[in-house]
Amino acid sequence: MEYINAKTIITKTKSSNWFGTDYNMNIYRGCCHGCIYCDSRSSCYNIKDFNKIAAKDNALSIIKSQLKSKKTLGVIGTGSMSDPYNPIEKKLNLTRGALEIISNYGFGVNIITKSDLILKDIDVLKEINKYAPVCVGFTITTYDDYLCSKIEPSVSLSSKRFKAMNELSSEGIFTGVLLMPILPFINDTEENIISIINKTKQCGGKFIYPYFGVTLREGQREYFYNELDKLFPSIREKYIETYGYKYEGVSLKSKSLWNTFKLNCHKEGILYKMPDIIKAYKYRKESYEQLTLI
Ligand code: SF4
Repeated sequence: MEYINAKTIITKTKSSNWFGTDYNMNIYRGCCHGCIYCDSRSSCYNIKDFNKIAAKDNALSIIKSQLKSKKTLGVIGTGSMSDPYNPIEKKLNLTRGALEIISNYGFGVNIITKSDLILKDIDVLKEINKYAPVCVGFTITTYDDYLCSKIEPSVSLSSKRFKAMNELSSEGIFTGVLLMPILPFINDTEENIISIINKTKQCGGKFIYPYFGVTLREGQREYFYNELDKLFPSIREKYIETYGYKYEGVSLKSKSLWNTFKLNCHKEGILYKMPDIIKAYKYRKESYEQLTLI
């Protein structure tokens, strides 16, 4: 673990299409969760030694002064480039500290994680949820804990993530699943998709946002293929044959998976279109979007 310098931590998003977030926040750089397909390893992001986690120096005082100076409230998203609940968070409590500041200044929050460590902050999330939008998305790619431990070696098992979802939803927090990536020839099965939908419903999840494929970008692709060689011999060849040097590998079964997915989401009342998800959590706080700080 090292500390790195940062001048800003909260940045304005270019659009709020992604879960309605108005701002982005990354307190940590890198991630030690070890997912074999992680897109953040792509060369375009230029993060050296990605598996090694680094925390931004003075993160909380920077966040405080940034939020203090903002004139407009909004939802702050975290978890797209690094998991805010890496194991080191248990000791440093920087994500918790940031949530407390977010709560003090009246902002909402959208968190994406693969860890049940988020439960340590349930009290702060409940506090924010009293007056501002809160959404917690658990990235879940497979229902099968054994497969999960192979492709996501250092995160909470899928069953633990579902358990955490259950706990958050029973406390009134809007929560659901990011069903991505779906790895061709590995977890792109109807059984996997249906099991995840059923379990989400059972655990009080309100949405599932899917992507039936995996990105295959320079830097990330090589890492992913090397891991495939260790874990699933002969699958690399199938990827090369099917996708060559394409930017993404969409499952050959994506059309039928989509149909199954939509049918079962309708059956269970699970939201899956982004505008519906945003509307359901962000604008349920009447006129929140019109509030400004004076
Ligand atoms: S938890 Fe997210 S950021 Fe961390 S390795 Fe896995 S995919 Fe990458």
